[in-house]
Amino acid sequence: MKHRVSTVDLPGEVLMPGDVGYTEASTTFFGRGAPALVVRPADVDQVVRAVRRAAAHGLTLSVRSGGHSLLAHGTNTGGMVLDLSRLDRVEVVDPDTRRVRVGGGATWGQVAAALTPYGWGLTAGDTAGVGVGGLTLGGGIGWMVRKHGLAIDNLVAARVVTADGRVLVVDEHEHPELFWALRGGGGNFGVVVDFDFIAQPVGTVHFGTITYAVEQPARQVSRWRDHLRQAPEELSSTLSLVPPLFGMPPAVTVTVCFAGEDADAAAAAIEPLVALGTVTDWQVRERPYAGILEEVHEPPGLRVAGRNVLLPLLDDSAVAAFVAAHAQGMPGIVSLRSLGGAFSRVPAAATAFAHRDAEAMAVCLAFVEKEATEADVEQVLRPWTAIASRGSGVYLNFQGSATAADLAAAYPPATYARLVAVKRRYDPANLFRLNHNIAPDTA
Ligand code: FAD
Repeated sequence: MKHRVSTVDLPGEVLMPGDVGYTEASTTFFGRGAPALVVRPADVDQVVRAVRRAAAHGLTLSVRSGGHSLLAHGTNTGGMVLDLSRLDRVEVVDPDTRRVRVGGGATWGQVAAALTPYGWGLTAGDTAGVGVGGLTLGGGIGWMVRKHGLAIDNLVAARVVTADGRVLVVDEHEHPELFWALRGGGGNFGVVVDFDFIAQPVGTVHFGTITYAVEQPARQVSRWRDHLRQAPEELSSTLSLVPPLFGMPPAVTVTVCFAGEDADAAAAAIEPLVALGTVTDWQVRERPYAGILEEVHEPPGLRVAGRNVLLPLLDDSAVAAFVAAHAQGMPGIVSLRSLGGAFSRVPAAATAFAHRDAEAMAVCLAFVEKEATEADVEQVLRPWTAIASRGSGVYLNFQGSATAADLAAAYPPATYARLVAVKRRYDPANLFRLNHNIAPDTA
């Protein structure tokens, strides 16, 4: 249904079709929408008024932070996009405890740059343009995950605008169930206008990519696994099997981040990786943490179909399934991200991200034609099913599909039931549904 929406009394910057900047504001990393309007609030009161307006008019509502949702949930057709990009302040609340308050529309690049002068950092993703909102609410797997856990493991409070327009400050004591649900349950429960994190002392890190010739991939992957199993938690790493792409030769790449300044300890943790095979390039060096977050773009004319699986045990048969997915010629990159360490010490029930036993996350980024149908995508992803079936769950932020099976894989039954209860309490009419949706009427 098409709505005509009056902008009278609508707060903040409002863009309608035809306005300068509308097309850009309606386009996310993965998709172009045609919303009836884009609202860019500058403060909490403006968020409240926009949420009330969307609820009152029954508008489809996209809440957008960095706009990197794999399913382009940050835009829509015919509804309202609530673009939080003006809520991007990064503020030190308490220098003694390193408590920082980050606006719900900030990007991780902005956060890293703002914390650098203090010698602090927050573990987040690998990409500067990804939003604090979406990444945090899903969990947040970054370059310091083994040392400092998920992004949500460093979250101590949030300020939320709920579907009925209330502003709640939530933490371990106030609205504790909502605080629990925000840590892994996605954007289902309200608009988070700011997040309070405890930053970590992070100056420079030892970071970079080592490239190897493709020799015996299964042996190269199992050596990487064996090394990570006994490496210090300062070391987080991603291994990728890269097919011949865009004129580049095929390769095995290992990106490392040693979250510590001790050069000898970093060398001791990283240099044994030379044993993985013939090194064709070695780019590891000491750099400021803010300098390691990259900017990426979709390959022109293609779109990326992302899938992942959390692996409790990366044993040799799981390694074989991972390598087979690559060997069957899937057009894209398959990667393994190391987990464990601090990530695994958080009890499964402490946050809505329950899969704390995972040793690694396998990720597949397949390149498909822009016009590919879902059936085409499933066909392309067929080699992935062997490794997908080895997992204990999925990480929704890296899941480019949103089926009931995806939700069941992300949330074990007790976690899901708890999320539904929180949803019923805070968003019974399911205003916040453009996400991996936890519908209030499911149990
Ligand atoms: P948006 O599209 O703006 O938001 C996604 C969804 O989050 C929205 O639809 C909404 O439901 C919700 N949301 C966002 N902000 C708020 C808010 N303030 N309040 C309430 N709801 C909100 N993930 C990792 O964990 N680690 C990585 O290293 C990583 N790298 C990535 C690199 C790229 C290039 C891409 C495209 C994705 C990456 N991701 C990574 C996945 C990323 O975490 C998800 O795509 C995430 O949803 C993006 O968040 P966003 O705010 O940029 O997206």
